Amino acid sequence: MGGEMWQNLVEFAVSRGYWGIENLSLIPGTVGAAPIQNIGAYGVELKDILENVEAYSIENGEKKIFLKEECEFGYRDSVFKNKFKGKYFISAIVLKLSEKRNQHLRYRALQEFLDKNNIKVESSKDVSDAVMEIRKSKLPDPRVLGNAGSFFKNVFVSKQKLKDLLALYKNMPYYEEEENFKVPAGWLIEQCGWKGKKVGNVGVHDKQALVLVNYGGATGEEVKSLSEQIISSVNSQFGLILEREVNLI
Ligand SMILES: Cc1cc2nc3c(=O)[nH]c(=O)nc-3n(C[C@H](O)[C@H](O)[C@H](O)COP(=O)(O)OP(=O)(O)OC[C@H]3O[C@@H](n4cnc5c(N)ncnc54)[C@H](O)[C@@H]3O)c2cc1C
Repeated sequence: MGGEMWQNLVEFAVSRGYWGIENLSLIPGTVGAAPIQNIGAYGVELKDILENVEAYSIENGEKKIFLKEECEFGYRDSVFKNKFKGKYFISAIVLKLSEKRNQHLRYRALQEFLDKNNIKVESSKDVSDAVMEIRKSKLPDPRVLGNAGSFFKNVFVSKQKLKDLLALYKNMPYYEEEENFKVPAGWLIEQCGWKGKKVGNVGVHDKQALVLVNYGGATGEEVKSLSEQIISSVNSQFGLILEREVNLI
């Protein structure tokens, strides 16, 4: 149901041996919020396992089932962030998980972690445990250090832009995805010297440059201003415009 914590659903499925959801372990928040930005991590997005979304119109209370195709899922995006923003309350989702082994281990950080620790994947729990370990080592716990997870979206570039960038930055990481190329926003931010930088009450996390942190008492304005400075320096150095993953309210 929509009000359940996402991680409880992950644990429920993994403990029963189902495959499909394990890469999405430890993403904070509720099940009902998951379709809003098509949550994703470690090479899997919600859209890969979702069948449909049950929702109620906020205007007239009418129930509607959104089939996956109707959700218009994209990278951290869905119809619920666009055409139907604020228009529906999501009460439940239906997922299609697999009883058969169906692993997604191609994501580089995950692969490296499994190799380095000599982990032979035998169950979805093995993957879930690995993902949780990686996340705990890289992401600050919001209960300890205020943060909203990844603040910016990764950047998609054309083949030509990728070529131009690689000519200047030979070590730039990138991933091919459906004829486009994804460049990690964290790497771009780090190259501009922001990683670990503190500006007043806010800063850029020292282990993951994609995460902005609140050291205590930061105002929304401070966070927004830091994000604007980062967007501006990435634009001047790389000619790429970072988009925020978080919602500004
Ligand atoms: C430390 C950290 C790590 C994170 N890592 C990831 C990650 O790896 N991948 C990823 O994709 N995200 C990640 N996030 C972002 C966050 O976990 C997701 O966006 C999550 O879905 C938010 O859930 P929530 O319940 O807190 O929703 P909120 O932040 O409260 O709401 C998000 C939006 O969804 C709407 N909404 C919430 N519930 C419903 C509902 N039932 N019906 C209709 N609209 C609703 C809200 O109005 C709001 O617009 C991370 C966040 C943190 C803090």
